[in-house]
Amino acid sequence: MARVSNFTAGPAALPLPVLEEAQAELLDYQGTGMSIMENSHRSKTFDLVHNEALDLARELLGVPTSYDVLFLQGGASQQFALVPMNFLRPDQSADYIISGHWSERALEEARIVGNARIAGTSKADGFMRVPTALELDPAAAYVHMTSNNTIYGTECFIEPDVGNVPLISDMSSDFMSRRIDVSKYGMIYAGAQKNLGPSGVALGIIRKDLVERGRTDIPFIFRYGTIATANSMFNTPPTFAIYLVRGVLRWLKAQGGLAAIERINLAKAKTLYAAIDASPDYYRCPVEPGSRSHMNAVWRLPSEALDDRFASEATNAGLVGLKGHRSVGGMRASLYNAITQDDVRKLVDFMAVFRAKNPA
Ligand code: PMP
Repeated sequence: MARVSNFTAGPAALPLPVLEEAQAELLDYQGTGMSIMENSHRSKTFDLVHNEALDLARELLGVPTSYDVLFLQGGASQQFALVPMNFLRPDQSADYIISGHWSERALEEARIVGNARIAGTSKADGFMRVPTALELDPAAAYVHMTSNNTIYGTECFIEPDVGNVPLISDMSSDFMSRRIDVSKYGMIYAGAQKNLGPSGVALGIIRKDLVERGRTDIPFIFRYGTIATANSMFNTPPTFAIYLVRGVLRWLKAQGGLAAIERINLAKAKTLYAAIDASPDYYRCPVEPGSRSHMNAVWRLPSEALDDRFASEATNAGLVGLKGHRSVGGMRASLYNAITQDDVRKLVDFMAVFRAKNPA
């Protein structure tokens, strides 16, 4: 079967050359006579893969030397718990900016560990914009935000001004999609399965002084300090996932890095939103224009029946994964880095044909 245009929210599309390379060297990685999966994580062979991946992440994002770059397990969800376990002390409180489902999950975990307050939320607007009016606590242990709300299709392009309080961002769904100034953050984390590789590994970028000051009254395995000291090899890391992450990062560098992918991503998003906005009586994006995500675009058709027909006919046309999250409904197209302008062109062409054939 021909490969489809995969607009799924994650695990998501991977660049074809990366998959082809993995296929070509699956049984014999670089003359070792075995798969990279079968090599010891302590071998020289894997060590090179591991360190190249970490170095590439650092290089592409321009991470200052005062930060650790770590491979983490347990996905982004585990960081919801580890962030307060490491950085929230009993006499402190943390600030949470609530912009959707995932920030609510992060807050829920923090409240099991200690005190956490809501510094701003857009819940009253159905999360159809990013929160702007923030009431920050200058004494907070940290401010936690979600940069891109995968389900609602909103994205925060300008970091909030949090003064000297460390800003911690869950960037799972827009990580490595655009340039960012890492020095504005205390910590960034992201599950790999959108822009970085397969599921099973997450990346954390953490200011070293925070890592060093992290709580030590928690088990070793949960301390960022343990992972940092062991160069993300405290225990067996997900080696095949890391190998694929390296492939994706090499591919990203060959595309021209983050400045280049940002331009491409902006063009893709513009094409799709223009197609949605061109027929407001038929396709409607409920997200406030300034908050529209470049990674996950959501829109609705005039009825749920048309939503369903759109999703199923699109699938038949090789455009898959377009059904919106069950809590929001409608359509969602995830436009991660591996989605090409050609994929988006096929989608907007399909939208025009579908609209003509299926009047409201
Ligand atoms: N944060 C965001 C913004 C997400 O989109 C997701 C997953 N879709 C998560 C966190 C949870 O990630 P994981 O499944 O890796 O724990």
